[in-house]
Amino acid sequence: MHRQSSCVSVAATLVCLLYCGIAFCAETLCSYSTYQWNVRERKSVGHVNVVKPYRELTAAEKDGASGCTVCEEDQVELTFDGLRPIKVCKHIAPRVQKIIGELQRRHAPLQDVVAYRVGMTRGEVDQAGNRTGFSNHSFGVALDINTDHNGLYDNCITITPSCRLIKGGKWEPGREFSLTGDSMIVREFKRNGFLWGGEIAGKQKDFMHFSPTGY
Ligand SMILES: [Zn+2]
Repeated sequence: MHRQSSCVSVAATLVCLLYCGIAFCAETLCSYSTYQWNVRERKSVGHVNVVKPYRELTAAEKDGASGCTVCEEDQVELTFDGLRPIKVCKHIAPRVQKIIGELQRRHAPLQDVVAYRVGMTRGEVDQAGNRTGFSNHSFGVALDINTDHNGLYDNCITITPSCRLIKGGKWEPGREFSLTGDSMIVREFKRNGFLWGGEIAGKQKDFMHFSPTGY
């Protein structure tokens, strides 16, 4: 029984070609480019390209909740009129296609959308000041919308003038491209199982950001 299940998992990580009755197998590879965010210098460091067999992926390189990974091979490219192509995890791609398609049909103010982008921008900070956890963008399960008008704010448990803009453009509720809880874009994402970064608990408000957990 045990032997059988391990054979199945080995087969799933191999791509085999049958030639004159002999099977030639190559391992399925995972590739991605990544970096770490340095909290002291406030810049990205340690850019690397990674290529490794799928079976060597660590727990940190997988998102347990969605089954998505940091691998390019697990992303699907979606194209929409007037927007740059985006890549999202294959498991949520049909849902994202439907949401953005519906928003465009209703002429929602979508200026730009960014999704898959691998980087360690979360979690513990190591001795060098580098973050060590992958963001949800790394797994292709988060989207940023209208970045120039929906910044990421720190020191912002509630929205007051003490909130400090640390990424993206100024959030100006009432302006066309800035998102609020009443926006068609926010409502459509929430209706389809996404949470909005403008409504997450904690010190940060990420007005451009959507993901299944909000983070
Ligand atoms: Zn984001």
